[in-house]
Amino acid sequence: MRPLSSENCLLIEAVGKFLAQDVYAEIDVPSFDNSAMDGYAFCYDASLKSYKIVGSIAAGSHLKIALNKGETAQIFTGAPLPEHADTVIAVEQVSASGGVIQFDPDVVFKGMHVRNKASQNSKGDCIAKKGTRVGHGLIALLASCGIKHIEVYRQPVVDCIITGSELQDLGSTLSDDNIYNSNGPAIHAFLLQCGIKIQNTLAAKDEKKILRDILDNSLQKSDLLIITGGVSAGAYDFVPEVLEEIGVIKLFHKVKQKPGKPIYCGIKEHRWIFGLPGNPASVLACLNQYIKPCISGLSGDPHMFNKYVFLPAKNSWKKKSGLSHILKAKIEENQVAILEGQESFNLLPFNQCNAFVVLEEDVDIVEKGDLVKAYFE
Ligand code: AMP
Ligand code: MG
Repeated sequence: MRPLSSENCLLIEAVGKFLAQDVYAEIDVPSFDNSAMDGYAFCYDASLKSYKIVGSIAAGSHLKIALNKGETAQIFTGAPLPEHADTVIAVEQVSASGGVIQFDPDVVFKGMHVRNKASQNSKGDCIAKKGTRVGHGLIALLASCGIKHIEVYRQPVVDCIITGSELQDLGSTLSDDNIYNSNGPAIHAFLLQCGIKIQNTLAAKDEKKILRDILDNSLQKSDLLIITGGVSAGAYDFVPEVLEEIGVIKLFHKVKQKPGKPIYCGIKEHRWIFGLPGNPASVLACLNQYIKPCISGLSGDPHMFNKYVFLPAKNSWKKKSGLSHILKAKIEENQVAILEGQESFNLLPFNQCNAFVVLEEDVDIVEKGDLVKAYFE
């Protein structure tokens, strides 16, 4: 999958995005020798154990002091070393009186408590590689080098279409035979956790014309379109045929998996379209297993596929072979429990689910202690 285009971004607005270029330091850091401690700076001389105080240098000070043999300057953390100084002794290790400091020479070595110029990085060094995710630690490093703007991959613009004539929004009184729309809030939250603010969430009744207009319009403006409901084989499941009518090229429709078997994936002019079967647990499983890697790939993550670990199962589990199963699970203390309530309408396991266990097609039984593949949610 190719990442989207790159953009030049203000450093703090790049959080969560991926570097589109290697980044090079424009300055030495530190850019001057400075003290790592509050104490006294001097030129190391093994024969001396007392020095005369000739000045005081605070952090940010532009004071220029040149030290002669036997002289010291009081210095504070981050302050520039005076000329000819190469060593700092911490204030706790000296006794100072009458303008003179004294200390035990055995506790001192040349270069002690000094942060040398360019000891973090030199001007021109490559300090971060293309494909690195921008987190607050990397932002600190780049800021220390004076970098205010960086080139990152653009994150996908995402639209979400929730289909189903039976759906009602939260806040309204539920009519007979209707249900609350839980997929909409779930997708909104999922995208926020991926660092993406959804552009539009639209509701569509199960009517072909309405659906066509909404899908067509959304496709003009988004990199990724997530549709829920209407992709199965029912008389009101219009999504695949409408997508075909508006020129979407089908990549796959239906996967040998449970839940989420009728999942649809298509593409139109580099815009990605996923149709997720409406059952809420199918949506949540497919968001994790399909949409998350898609968003990572579009965002320029070189390791787009989800990480998984093999962990011993905390309980035994039976399944029919023939489909792979994506099971709500809970990782704790280096084991993984496969949770009760795996029906695709049942959301209750999500009050403790923190992972999905994937059992391959041919597996029919898992014994307690068997290693199973667990994806973090
Ligand atoms: P569908 O894929 O449209 O056939 O829907 C499958 C099941 O999921 C049906 O029981 C729907 O009522 C339910 N469903 C569809 N969309 C949602 C939604 N947004 N929130 C909650 N349940 C839904
Ligand atoms: Mg439906």
